[in-house]
Amino acid sequence: MKVAIIGAGLAGLACAHELEKYGISPVIYERNGFIGETHAHVTASLDIVNRPIRDVVRYFKKKFDIDLKPSNTINRIIHYSPRKKRMIKGNFGYFFVRGKGEHSIKNQLYAQLNHTKVVFDHLADYEKLLKENDYVIAATGNSNFAEELGCFYEWVTTHLRGAVVLGDFDPNTLTAWINKEYCKSGYAYLTPIDKQRASLSLIVPEVIERDIEYYWERFLYAENINYTITEEFRWKHKTGYVYPNHIGNLYFAGKARGGIDPFLGFGQAKAVIEGVMAARAIVKGKDYGKLIKPNIKKNKNMYEFRKAYNHASNEDYDRLITFLSLPGIKQLIYYSPLNVVKTGGMLLGFMNRNRKSDR
Ligand SMILES: Cc1cc2nc3c(=O)[nH]c(=O)nc-3n(C[C@H](O)[C@H](O)[C@H](O)COP(=O)(O)OP(=O)(O)OC[C@H]3O[C@@H](n4cnc5c(N)ncnc54)[C@H](O)[C@@H]3O)c2cc1C
Repeated sequence: MKVAIIGAGLAGLACAHELEKYGISPVIYERNGFIGETHAHVTASLDIVNRPIRDVVRYFKKKFDIDLKPSNTINRIIHYSPRKKRMIKGNFGYFFVRGKGEHSIKNQLYAQLNHTKVVFDHLADYEKLLKENDYVIAATGNSNFAEELGCFYEWVTTHLRGAVVLGDFDPNTLTAWINKEYCKSGYAYLTPIDKQRASLSLIVPEVIERDIEYYWERFLYAENINYTITEEFRWKHKTGYVYPNHIGNLYFAGKARGGIDPFLGFGQAKAVIEGVMAARAIVKGKDYGKLIKPNIKKNKNMYEFRKAYNHASNEDYDRLITFLSLPGIKQLIYYSPLNVVKTGGMLLGFMNRNRKSDR
C-alpha cells in the first residue's frame, strides 16, 4: 500500500508510526527543512481537557506504543481574573517542549520512526499525490485543502501573540490570565521552559491580524509584565470542522481536520490520536468518523462552552475564578471524572439565559 502524508507535524508523524506497525513505509512531505517549529515554546496538556483519558503519556504508550517525555509535570495553576488571583495545587497534566530541538515533542516522535521517508522542503499538493498513491493523509495543521474542497466549516478564528521571556520561573507552574480588556473572550498564559525562560502567549478571538499588537501591549501594561523578551511569535488558529472527514482516499487528520478545540486551542493530543486513527482506518478498512468520534464530540462541547463563555463579563470572570477554587468545587473539577467542558458550558448557558430574563 502506497501512502503519502502531507505534513511532519504530530498527526503526520503519529500516522507514520502506526502505519509502520503494519509493514507500510509511508512518505511524509514536509514544507520546512526541519521537524518542529522555528521558535521555542512550551505547550500544556491538561488532564481536565483530555478526559476521559487520565494520563496522556501513559495512554499513548499503552495504546499506541508512542513514548513521549514531557519537560515537566504541571503541579500548580495560578489563575488571574481582573480583580482576583487564585492558586491551586495538584497533578494537572504535563508541559511539552516545542521548537526545533531534539527534545521537542515532534522530534521525539520522529526519532521513533524506523522506515518512513521524510522529504523536506517540499510544499506538497494533495491532487498530485492522490494520483501517485493509494492514500493521502492531509496533516498540514491548517484548513487550506479542506477549504479548497469546500468541506471546512469555521467556528472561530483566534490570533496568538507570544514571546519567549527571561525571568525567574517555577518549571511546574502554569499561569493564566483572563480579562476582557486585553483578550476579549480569549486568555493569556505563561508556560515555563526552564527556571530562567518561559513562553508567554496571548490569545484573542475574532480580531484582525494587526490589532493583536494593540491587545498584546494592553496585556503587558495591565498585568505589569516587563520580562526581557528574546523571541517573538505570532500565529493564527482557525477552528471548525471538516465534513466529511475523508473524501475518497484523502484523509484529514489533526488540525487539518479541525482537531483543535475552539476555546483553549488545545490540539496536540487530538493530533496524535487522529494520526493513529487515520492509519488504522485505511489499513483495517474501518470507519474513520467512528474512530475519531470522541475528538469530534469534545470539540463540539468546547464550541458550546465557547459560545456561552463569549457572553461572560469581567465580573463573571472574577466570580468564576473564586468559584473554581472553592474546596468542594476544586475537588469536583480537577479530581473527579466530571465532563467539565460539557457541564461548564451548560452552567454558563443557564447563567446567560437567567441574566437575559432578569432584564
Ligand atoms: C504557539 C502555539 C501554542 C500551542 N499551545 C498548545 C497547548 O498548550 N496545548 C495543546 O494541546 N495544543 C497547543 N497548540 C496546538 C497544537 O500545537 C496543534 O493542535 C498541533 O500541533 C496540531 O498538530 P498537526 O499535526 O495537526 O499540525 P502541525 O503540528 O501544525 O503540523 C503540520 C505540519 O504540516 C506542514 N505543512 C503544512 N502544509 C504543508 C504542505 N502543503 N506540504 C508539506 N508540509 C506542509 C507544516 O510545516 C507542519 O510541519 C499550540 C499551537 C501553537 C502554534
